[in-house]
Amino acid sequence: MALSYAVPNFLIERDESRCIDCQVCVRQCANEVHKFDEDDEKIVSDTMKCVNCHRCVVLCPTKALTVREFPLEFKKNGHWKSDDIKSIYIQAETGGVLLAGMGNDKPYPIYWDKMLINASQVTNPSIDPLREPMEIKTFLGRKPASLEIENGKLKTKLPPQLELEVPVMFSAMSFGSISLNAHKSLARAAREVGTFFNTGEGGLHRDLADFGDNCIVQVASGRFGVHQEYLDAGSAIEIKIGQGAKPGIGGHLPGEKVGPEVSQTRMIPEGSDAISPAPHHDIYSIEDLRQLIYSLKEATNYKKPVFVKIAAVHNVAAIASGIARAGADVIAIDGFRGGTGAAPLRTRDSVGIPIEFALAAVDTRLRQEGIRNQVSLVIGGSIRNSSDIVKAVALGADAVYIGTAALMALGCHLCQKCYTGKCNWGIATQDPRLVKRLNPEIGARRAANLLKAWKHEIKELLGGMGINALESLRGNRLMLRGIDLTEKELEILGIKAAGE
Ligand code: SF4
Ligand code: SF4
Repeated sequence: MALSYAVPNFLIERDESRCIDCQVCVRQCANEVHKFDEDDEKIVSDTMKCVNCHRCVVLCPTKALTVREFPLEFKKNGHWKSDDIKSIYIQAETGGVLLAGMGNDKPYPIYWDKMLINASQVTNPSIDPLREPMEIKTFLGRKPASLEIENGKLKTKLPPQLELEVPVMFSAMSFGSISLNAHKSLARAAREVGTFFNTGEGGLHRDLADFGDNCIVQVASGRFGVHQEYLDAGSAIEIKIGQGAKPGIGGHLPGEKVGPEVSQTRMIPEGSDAISPAPHHDIYSIEDLRQLIYSLKEATNYKKPVFVKIAAVHNVAAIASGIARAGADVIAIDGFRGGTGAAPLRTRDSVGIPIEFALAAVDTRLRQEGIRNQVSLVIGGSIRNSSDIVKAVALGADAVYIGTAALMALGCHLCQKCYTGKCNWGIATQDPRLVKRLNPEIGARRAANLLKAWKHEIKELLGGMGINALESLRGNRLMLRGIDLTEKELEILGIKAAGE
């Protein structure tokens, strides 16, 4: 075999004074990094195979293991970063496209961190959420331009709405890209908290059929697992045009991940690659999209809101305007930090725009055109905590999707190797030995806890602003101030600078 020029990314250090040779690390690492050497009677580790998923570090009973960046440094060079050089070694060896999992990790500015939230002082006093009612219930769907009320009762018939107890939903992740236990965890957590999970493009596993009241079913370009029963099962339908991690390209689930369960759910032969085309082959214009939206509404008796999900790209505001006019009830926009099971690295890291700008631009455009009430806006692709959510709502979002954060709640340690199918945490894998590492009951409790914690924090932040209903914050950009932003960035975000 030709000599590989690839260098290790991580270094494993074992504190021999602590190691008790229990071999937990040997059993836990699906990448076969650790091995018990019978001759030397000790555990040895192959650093080259480590992806830094922390599984062995966390489970080592004596905390004898440390994983850190491999301390190899290339000669200092202002242009060639070590990642560039390593990529070239790999591609020169394989001749293939570089794949990546999870989201864009490049050090682009994080605009959430450049916006600060207001708080009341003296006038318009703050509200104590522990003592006073705070309303953060959110309704997603088309709203009428005006409401007719008769004898204190609503007379106007509202289009179908999704009711969320917290303005956070779990974003689309397909069964196939994540395990059934991961899906079950999210489904149960969504039910417990009063929100929604999303099937992604892989269909709905029969074990989750009872979770329809908390489920958004997705229709993507491959149409995997889409049939009348599936459309009827969900509370809303999402047409996926694009996603933040890989705008403009389709999806690929390798045949190795298409076992009997995935095959049955997706309605494709076992072991075959599931390739979603880049475009929907029946959508080449806004009119075509309109046809699909109305076909899905027709098929479900106009009882479910229809989402259209797009990636945040350069002309996102104009695209969103077209989608609203095409009859969508909700537009979901996924920013360039959005996660995925597998994406070409160059697409993940260099295509799309930050969600903060996309959201501000879309909300502004829809308001200018007088059609903001016709759609709800849901954003995803970068939400890390409750203050990001509050800032998103102030910029104009009705609710947010979380994917990466939700998987972290289940145990993901962000090694970004989801595409290998060897997720040691039982999340992005179909290997039965690994899948059972994630107990759906524990996963559901952890994911639900995360949303409950954020719900408390959102109420606290709202109370601090003297606001007792999330609705009053929606699009209220006066509640934000920018720091370390250019004039142009402030203008696009539609916010003032700190101190103004
Ligand atoms: S891949 Fe994960 S489990 Fe395996 S050695 Fe590295 S950190 Fe440990
Ligand atoms: S889901 Fe698993 S493989 Fe993917 S980043 Fe998280 S820990 Fe790694």
